[in-house]
Amino acid sequence: MRELRGIGASPGAAAGPVYRLAPPPALPAAPQTVDAAAEKAAVRAAVGAVADELTRRADTASDSTAAEVLRAQVLMVQDETLVDAADTAIDGGADAPHAVTDVLAVHRAAFEAAGGYLAERVSDLDDLRDRLVAACLGLPMPGVPDPGHPYLLVARDLAPADTAGLDPDLVLGLVTAEGGPTSHTAIVARTLGIPAVVRCADILEVADGTLVSLDGATGVVTAGVSAETATDVNAARRAEVERRARSHGPGRTADGHPVALLANIGSVRDLTGEVEGVGLFRTELLYLDRTDPPPYEEQVAAYREVFAALPGRKVVVRTLDAGADKPLPFLNLAVEPNPALGIRGLRVARQSPAVLTTQLAAIAAAAKSADAEVWVMTPMVATAAEAAAFAESCREHGLPTAGVMIEIPAAALRAGHVLRDVDFLSIGTNDLSQYTFAADRMCGDLAELLDPWQPALISLIASCAAAGAAAGKPVGVCGEAAADPHFALVLAGLGVTSLSMAPRSIPAVRESLAAHTLDECRRIAEAALAADTPAAARAAATGR
Ligand code: PEP
Ligand code: MG
Repeated sequence: MRELRGIGASPGAAAGPVYRLAPPPALPAAPQTVDAAAEKAAVRAAVGAVADELTRRADTASDSTAAEVLRAQVLMVQDETLVDAADTAIDGGADAPHAVTDVLAVHRAAFEAAGGYLAERVSDLDDLRDRLVAACLGLPMPGVPDPGHPYLLVARDLAPADTAGLDPDLVLGLVTAEGGPTSHTAIVARTLGIPAVVRCADILEVADGTLVSLDGATGVVTAGVSAETATDVNAARRAEVERRARSHGPGRTADGHPVALLANIGSVRDLTGEVEGVGLFRTELLYLDRTDPPPYEEQVAAYREVFAALPGRKVVVRTLDAGADKPLPFLNLAVEPNPALGIRGLRVARQSPAVLTTQLAAIAAAAKSADAEVWVMTPMVATAAEAAAFAESCREHGLPTAGVMIEIPAAALRAGHVLRDVDFLSIGTNDLSQYTFAADRMCGDLAELLDPWQPALISLIASCAAAGAAAGKPVGVCGEAAADPHFALVLAGLGVTSLSMAPRSIPAVRESLAAHTLDECRRIAEAALAADTPAAARAAATGR
């Protein structure tokens, strides 16, 4: 047996034979002469085949985030400039596989140079290249293996096209050599409830078919376990999932202190299982892949669909969180050297106020015709003045409950002032970590700074929760940290009033809260706050 170490990215244990993602096709040697017309036709056929395949995967994707990324990939592959550039390369003597490879290499370099969101899309371009080359060569599309029985999927990293169609009954767990805890792989694994470990470089040395177990909480991966151990691990996991599926009811500590357990969704498709309400409705999905903003009527219909699914329950709608690092063509934003620090979130309204006012009007119209309790919040707020202006705009539109996300340390430091004019705060720990530690949230190499157990992050959350208690206003957490069952105890102990997460994460958090009294949560929170390192904070809370 060999113990390998990675970073736990989606909790739960799983075991089984490992199989690697099908390798990308090898590029054959360049031919001496080419039939230009035939090669151009091959490129067009390959583009059609890849677009069809990605569209099919988007239509059957198990979550809206994956579907959204796949549709963006379809637009990339159908971009006319790609075919035009491939034609030029073929006129210069290249065959179809080399032409698409060369063209995508140019796009790749441009994406990398742009940095930020575009640099993160490089793996999508590599995936397109491999698919196009395979299609040109008449080979099967690279991707997820199908050994005909349950297994653990191993990959260097996973592209959205790989994860979109993952079947949790077949893929028992994921181990990747790269990626980080906020990477696409991790988010999809948590959404699907598949245990996962990322940044486990040594997994690539483990041969296909080897029996491996993984612990998605601790990041420990053990290669060469026995068949009995694998059976036991999976039986325990199944029992745990079944027990949790039976757990229900509102979030409460053992002594009945309420902590609402809410869902993070991108569309009504993401609502599964029992939820007390929605704590984060990400509205970006409506705006992606468009050259014009979504029409008012279309927005009203989309919001109404979600509100209608949650009668009598709370739905917190987040206004558009776009910007130069999540570019939307119709916003016409300039290319920025540091997009994460530029015009994004609420800041977009400085340049395009109508985008925000149309959205608020559409939310208000949809709220009128459904009986969900609609709250509205905005991302990327830095000052109390911005918060006050947003709240005023909401009230002008007839939306009585307005709040802001706490994602920028400046807002966390002045949480009491921010709360003066708004009704609630929702802490986005993904961005709050990024901006507090000056560590790009997608950078796997900085994963330890992005660990929610970092004492500095816990301090900022504590001061927001204290400001909420002083003002008598709710303070929730809607970043990935809320889904950690142990961290949930810290949050409850600090006075956080609601936790919002992927619906599949709710049962484990519900169970964890129900097993501790509020006083125990407070003691755990104090111990975590007093710790000097994430490991010490975690140990103080979990005893390991
Ligand atoms: C966050 O930043 O924690 C958050 C919930 O927002 P998003 O992940 O959509 O940026
Ligand atoms: Mg955010």
